[in-house]
Amino acid sequence: MNANLEHLVVLQAQDLELKRLREELAEAPRRVAAAEAARSKAEALLAAAKQALTKEEVLRRSQESDVTDRRGKIARLRKQMDSATSAAQITALEHEIKFSEESISKLEDEELASMERTERFDAEKETATKAVEKTTAALEAERARAAEVTQSNNAAVQGIEGERQTLRAQIKESDAGEAALSTYDRISKAKGTGVSEAIDHKCSACQMMVRPQRWNDLTGREHDHEIFTCETCGRMLFWDPRRDAPGSWAAGERLASAKAVAKSLESRA
Ligand SMILES: [Zn+2]
Repeated sequence: MNANLEHLVVLQAQDLELKRLREELAEAPRRVAAAEAARSKAEALLAAAKQALTKEEVLRRSQESDVTDRRGKIARLRKQMDSATSAAQITALEHEIKFSEESISKLEDEELASMERTERFDAEKETATKAVEKTTAALEAERARAAEVTQSNNAAVQGIEGERQTLRAQIKESDAGEAALSTYDRISKAKGTGVSEAIDHKCSACQMMVRPQRWNDLTGREHDHEIFTCETCGRMLFWDPRRDAPGSWAAGERLASAKAVAKSLESRA
């Protein structure tokens, strides 16, 4: 394979890995923020349930005290009946007693309704409590993960950046390297990748056919000094003869592993 192209394949693997590492770095605080928002929401629901329960308790205390008041009033009215002198007075008292009894009955109905609401708010409180526990644990896990990703990815970025600079310098210095590198930079900037493996008469990046003549040039030995591009997407094509003869994998371990990385990254993207 053309030496520049071979280097560009490795460079692409590095670039894709750097992209993945940086995306993960940017994603980490967003994931923490989302976990924080989820916990805040659960906490708000729990606070609302607690507040509703308190409100019902206060309401029932006042209803109970109203009932007590009315019972006292009824007792007083009955005493007055004992000393009543006229029929009109008795009728008026009876009317008042009936009115108070109806009030008590209404208050008791309301109290029952409040207890039913309390039951519902209790269930909501239980659900919200569990949600707070769950989202708190998730938030802690997300924070730990973010710290880990930040540390390991920053270290990996630094390492790969160093290798990448060395490799780019190496390509630039080689014959026709500068042109190849600038083509790679231009296409990868526009399309995400600049080189693409030609497999089975196709460009593996855009899936379009490679014309027979170009395929022959690409896979032949006499064009090692040339770099062929895909006529559809413009990516620089490389062809790996070892793909057709897996038994003959020998030298070029670095390239092979770089290709494996590049492939796995491409399939992930
Ligand atoms: Zn293509």
